[in-house]
Amino acid sequence: MKFKEIQKMAGGSLGFFDRVALGAMTVIESAASGISNISDNIINSEKKIVHKTIKEESLTCTSEGCNCLAVPLYTTINKYKCTSCDRQFADADHKIKYTIESKFNGNDKEEIYGSCVEDLVLLQKNNK
Ligand SMILES: [Zn+2]
Repeated sequence: MKFKEIQKMAGGSLGFFDRVALGAMTVIESAASGISNISDNIINSEKKIVHKTIKEESLTCTSEGCNCLAVPLYTTINKYKCTSCDRQFADADHKIKYTIESKFNGNDKEEIYGSCVEDLVLLQKNNK
């Protein structure tokens, strides 16, 4: 995990001790990346593209006063789920599955999609 991501998850306000701990983590991380895990790198670059695709296909939650990000449900063509209040609703057709599967090979697309959605839900919770 990159420093900026951790900072974002922590709401951008890190205390002194958090920064010290992060510094230590970064040192350990860069030591470990010397051994370089290729499959992890591939997954990370796929996740970036999936995140971008989710943002492009997402809507704003229609629940009154929520206005949070509602992401497409992978196995549907027109259903969305809010990352904040969990409201599920049907709206304009999305092409999430088609778009992601046309960009990558392999059978783990739904899994990567699911973990990207989890990241967004976590971010949403941390922004509250
Ligand atoms: Zn909502």
